[in-house]
This record gives sequence, structure tokens and C-alpha cells, in this order.
Amino acid sequence: MIDWNSIDTVLLDMDGTLLDLHFDNYFWMEHLPRLYAEKHQISQEESSAHLHQQTSSKQGTLDWYSLDHWSERLDMDIPTLKLEVRHLINLRPYTTEFLTQLHHSHRDVVMVTNAHRKTLNIKMDKVDITHWFDRVVVSHDLDAPKEEQAFWHKLQALHPFDPKRTLLIDDTESILDSAQRYGIVHLLTLLQPDSQRQKRIDTRFPGIHHFDEIMPNGVSGEKHT
Ligand SMILES: [Mg+2]
Repeated sequence: MIDWNSIDTVLLDMDGTLLDLHFDNYFWMEHLPRLYAEKHQISQEESSAHLHQQTSSKQGTLDWYSLDHWSERLDMDIPTLKLEVRHLINLRPYTTEFLTQLHHSHRDVVMVTNAHRKTLNIKMDKVDITHWFDRVVVSHDLDAPKEEQAFWHKLQALHPFDPKRTLLIDDTESILDSAQRYGIVHLLTLLQPDSQRQKRIDTRFPGIHHFDEIMPNGVSGEKHT
């Protein structure tokens, strides 16, 4: 599926790719609606509809990913509320093995995330994987989400990479579209970003279930030095 000999740079998304998207889905679809309903004395259904209405218009923008934006807009302390369900933050299967092998290879390994810095910190407090990366790039710092071409141009300016020899793994197809438009050749998505939801069958990009399917050294869990 992946010809590792033709890849020098590996760009990896965080939520839904390295980490189980269950935490994020549970927080935004269940935990927050419940607290928002209590705060405004409305039903759970009304709360979900209200939140959906407010958030959907911002999808794919930096605001959508910004905890500060939602804390202010909803008048709720989103980072603190996220901590209440931090026990749901987990790595996806084979993430550590995959990152270990990549780390010990010649390749440049970069985390590229739309997650807000506060979200990143909450997650890395629970499952710190940052030491496996050559760099962690937060799109808020580049002032453009991965969905926009500006992100890739700024990423290139920050640390040059050859799009033809670059692999991006990301569970969001609009982001893979954006990377493809920029010229990144090797693109993979995840078939089950949220462990508690059904496997996706309608992805437009080649997909994997777990990283053990694409281990650079062929064998999952094998340590290469
Ligand atoms: Mg993602």
C-alpha cells in the first residue's frame, strides 16, 4: 500500500489518526450538550440542536478548532470541561509501534494538527507522543487550517519538503483534498477514526484500519535501530 522507499517526509494528523477520535466526539456530542442543557435549562435535544447550529457554520475554519473561540461564544470554560473527560483520551492501536519505527528511520516525521494549543496540551499530558516527532506544527500558529492552501505553503516555508516524496495520513477527507491540491502525492485516511463508531466504507482516499498494515519495517512492534 505504501512504498516506503519513495517517502522522505511523513506528516501525521493527531485527532482521529494517532489518537482515538472517541474523546472528541464524546465531548462535543454528549458531554458538552448535557452541560449546556443544564446551564440554559433546556432539553438535551434543544441543546444539541443549538450547539450544532452554532458550530456547523464554522467547520473547517480555525475558529472551529479554537477552544478560546468556543469558551467565549458559549460562555463556558471549554478546556476545564474537557479535563473532566480526559480519561477518554487514548492512542489508536499500534500508534507507538508505528512512531517508534518512523523515529528510527531517516525520515522527517512531523505532526500536523488543527487542534488548538490548549487541546494539544491536554492530550499530551495524558499520552505524550511528541518526543517521537522531529516537529509538531499547530495550524493556529501558521494562521491557516490544513483545509486551506496557505497552510501547506507556510509549512513548506517553515521547513522545506518534497510533496512528491511526502506521505500525509489524516482522517479528514477535506484536508486530504487540500493536500492533494497542493501536490502531496501519498495520501492515506483512517477507516475507523473513532473506535466506538462503525468503520467507514465510503472513503475517497485509500484507507487503513490500523498502522500495523503499513509498518515501515514490515513487522509491527519490531524495534529497529
Ligand atoms: Mg483528524
